[in-house]
Amino acid sequence: MPSPLEQQNPSGYELEDPLEEDKDSPVPGLTHRYPDRALLVTTHVCTMYCRFCTRKRATMVRGGWDAISRNDERMVEYVRDHSEIRDVIVSLTLPASKLKFFLDNLASIPHVDVIRIGTRVPVTLPQKLYDENLIDLLASAGKVWIQTHFNHPREITPEAARVCLALLKAGMPVNNHTVLMKGVNDSLETMRSLMRGLLRIKVRPYYIFHCDPVIGAGHFRTSVWKGLEIMEGLRGHMSGLGIPTYVVDSPHGGGKIPLMPNYLVSASDDAVVLRNYEGMLVRYQAEDKPQVVQPTRTRGVSALLQGSKSALIPQHSERMARRELNVLTNAELSDLPDTNGHHEHNGNGCHEEGAQELVPLRGM
Ligand code: SF4
Repeated sequence: MPSPLEQQNPSGYELEDPLEEDKDSPVPGLTHRYPDRALLVTTHVCTMYCRFCTRKRATMVRGGWDAISRNDERMVEYVRDHSEIRDVIVSLTLPASKLKFFLDNLASIPHVDVIRIGTRVPVTLPQKLYDENLIDLLASAGKVWIQTHFNHPREITPEAARVCLALLKAGMPVNNHTVLMKGVNDSLETMRSLMRGLLRIKVRPYYIFHCDPVIGAGHFRTSVWKGLEIMEGLRGHMSGLGIPTYVVDSPHGGGKIPLMPNYLVSASDDAVVLRNYEGMLVRYQAEDKPQVVQPTRTRGVSALLQGSKSALIPQHSERMARRELNVLTNAELSDLPDTNGHHEHNGNGCHEEGAQELVPLRGM
């Protein structure tokens, strides 16, 4: 439902075309921003008219949706004339005749490898895809991937699951993007539930978009820290299959910029110190060269860099407790030779205040 908040834009930061897509538009409706991709906005008709839509300027005003227009032909011609374009994103909710026009023409262009159909139909109007002829039409292009848009676990209905499965069975991968919105899905619990729900219906979580500063969407926008907090609670806590990339779409047409919590803590000439999801800090040597332990007495992260320790592990780590209980006891370990035939737990004696001894288990 519209909200009076949509009328507010106190910072003046919200714009009609915040991503400057129209400035990167050599043909009306077509945005050519990245080297090998083009976006085709082919209609003003949408199944949803989301309040936060980045392209509401198009869904509100662009006409001529039900017949093939001169601009449709020019968009296809542009793609045909630009052999660097490999991936075409077609944003549309169209009558089958126009869909067929785009699919037939784009699929016949040899340098186009991928046609991504961006649509919320599987989410908001799945019954439309109960039509097997429509699924067959999409599949017949042979290059189609579906890019859909679930924002909340409650949107994963049996009807939506049914059409996603039908698309997959017809050979079309289904990816999802989600827009991060205050009061809608800006909690770890909701996002975990959404990502798990998507995996259950075999839809790959692809992106979490920070909500764009489009006019009328300011009240949905939350801090980047909230997005990072959510990503911190996804990575490591669930399968990598369920981890989307969190991106900010840059002002001035800079495109998508991925953001993530910082896992690189420090670095020296010989090694980096990395952090895992548990807070373990580990020395990692990327290159295969002899490890030289620097003579300077030091502690903490610096000791990892100097090579006198290999890891700092937080106390009360569930994983380490499981090792001790279920895998090997320290006593059993002391009887096992390491790869050099030595008997030791940890050549680096990894003990620090607030840290637990690293127990090296080969093969883990
Ligand atoms: S479904 Fe997509 S194109 Fe349609 S209004 Fe929503 S975000 Fe915009």
